[in-house]
Amino acid sequence: MADGRLTITVLGSGTSVGVPTIGCHCAVCTSTDTRDKRLRPSILVRWNGHSVLIDTGPDFRQQALAAGIERLDAVLLTHAHADHIMGLDDVRPLNFYMSGPIRVYGSAETIDIIRRTFRYIFDTRPTESSIPKIQTCVFGDAPIRVGDLDFEPIRLAHGHGTVYGFRFGSAAYLTDHSGIPPESMEKLRNLDVLFLDALRHRPHPTHSTVEDSLETVAALKPRRAFFTHICHDLAHEATEAALPANVRLAYDGLVIEVDNPPVHKFRVFRSLEEIPVDFGPCALTIGNFDGVHIAHRSIMRRVASVAHEQGWHAAALTLDPHPASVVAPEKTPRLLTGIEQRCELMRQAGLDEVLVLPFTKELAALSPEQFIQGIVTNRLGARAVLVGHNFRFGRGAAGDTALLQELGQRLGFEVETCPAVHCRGTVVSSTQIRKLIAAGDVADAWRMLERPFALEGEVIRGEGVGSRQTVPTLNLSEQTGLVPLGGVYVTRTVDLDDDRQWRSVTNVGFRPTFEGQHLTIETFLLSTFDGHSPARIRVEFLYRLRDERKFENAEALKAQIVRDVGRANRFHRRTAEMLSSMG
Ligand SMILES: [Zn+2]
Ligand SMILES: [Zn+2]
Ligand SMILES: [Zn+2]
Repeated sequence: MADGRLTITVLGSGTSVGVPTIGCHCAVCTSTDTRDKRLRPSILVRWNGHSVLIDTGPDFRQQALAAGIERLDAVLLTHAHADHIMGLDDVRPLNFYMSGPIRVYGSAETIDIIRRTFRYIFDTRPTESSIPKIQTCVFGDAPIRVGDLDFEPIRLAHGHGTVYGFRFGSAAYLTDHSGIPPESMEKLRNLDVLFLDALRHRPHPTHSTVEDSLETVAALKPRRAFFTHICHDLAHEATEAALPANVRLAYDGLVIEVDNPPVHKFRVFRSLEEIPVDFGPCALTIGNFDGVHIAHRSIMRRVASVAHEQGWHAAALTLDPHPASVVAPEKTPRLLTGIEQRCELMRQAGLDEVLVLPFTKELAALSPEQFIQGIVTNRLGARAVLVGHNFRFGRGAAGDTALLQELGQRLGFEVETCPAVHCRGTVVSSTQIRKLIAAGDVADAWRMLERPFALEGEVIRGEGVGSRQTVPTLNLSEQTGLVPLGGVYVTRTVDLDDDRQWRSVTNVGFRPTFEGQHLTIETFLLSTFDGHSPARIRVEFLYRLRDERKFENAEALKAQIVRDVGRANRFHRRTAEMLSSMG
């Protein structure tokens, strides 16, 4: 993200009933210390002209007025308990000032409850009174990008339920929780600011106590911690006096400036010239990485861990176009991933930088020694080079891992050769996955990629058959990469601009029933979508249903489609668990 400061304003620091609590005359509820007046929990995050609100509790109107909220780039919901959502209707005035709807992010469960609780917002019935313009977006485990900042959902236990906190830059906000799973703890290292639930001293089945959260602070060692979701057991001044200096109680109106060196600032360089002179030192992996499959990702995770142990960058050097297109154009494979998708997957695998080197005749002519010395050590300052077992480099692919070891000793870098990764007895490789896709075996390809094979592109106008049917039909624009073998597939379709997704069935082929001439990729959604038709989609291939066939007439085709949809629905039901865990 850019250099602008990131500030967090605590809009509410109280528990679900607020403090003072209705009907209570205890010392805290009658205290004159303004820090003992606690509205329902919420924070506002602002940076570079962006603002994101976390939770819209029943006090949202009052909080928005106090903080001067006039627009919101997004609302993130931790969970759907009433003390975190009941003020949602009060975003209405913001709609007057903002052009589009307000994006509201929650887990699948939270968004489901929001749509039922605020049914009048979503039921599309005509109404004379104004209703908020809201676009709901479901998040999984992947970060939510707002402007130039990622908000990473952090899974938490809240009694028997699962709720979310969020990490953004070097801050994290974890309100209601009674436990933090180990994999979430891993995501909370190196924080400047950490917010934690600390209801009171006495144990509670769904909340952390002051003592629990002090333990979390001891384990994670953030620079500063703030406790929130506080009930009337805790008087601000007396409680804080007993806390370590870097742990404070949050209070309504508290503004915190966050040191925000981005923890993961990902950069892509498109040529050697773009690389800063002081780039190194780095741990580096080199390869084409088509598909960024499980074996690639295991190397990249290793690169990141070596680099971060040593305080180096974690980098990858990849080539575009594919070397074969320069050396032997007739042998150029159709690729699993375009360069943009490859870079994004490498970002997700934990790398800090990717150098996309244009593969030219000049580059192809470099000897293995010239390539390593000129680019890898002199230019990139590699201190460690990690590669796959079958890595080849330099003119005519003359260099192998033995030569790389030798060069490493001579030039002063470590070499690590990562072993082959097997999947059901087969060595995982891009070539093997391309073969599987070309044969329509998308289920095996899914295993090797650890995600479904997907096609992305713009939605184009089809030839009209789908649009006359009752199911919404989306046609993908022409593809330059690899396309699965013609046939009918169970798929999942994702709106690339809106975080919406649908279960679907996709026909890849020539539409023989309609005497089609061109390859079409036609997707039938298994549910209707509310709102506009998506402009750009990703179609994920989950399972192959059947070959494409020519039918007697459109009626026979329709009957077959009904059967396909039935099978697809059964497939989706069986894999719903798996899909939701994939996000
Ligand atoms: Zn709560
Ligand atoms: Zn009280
Ligand atoms: Zn709660």
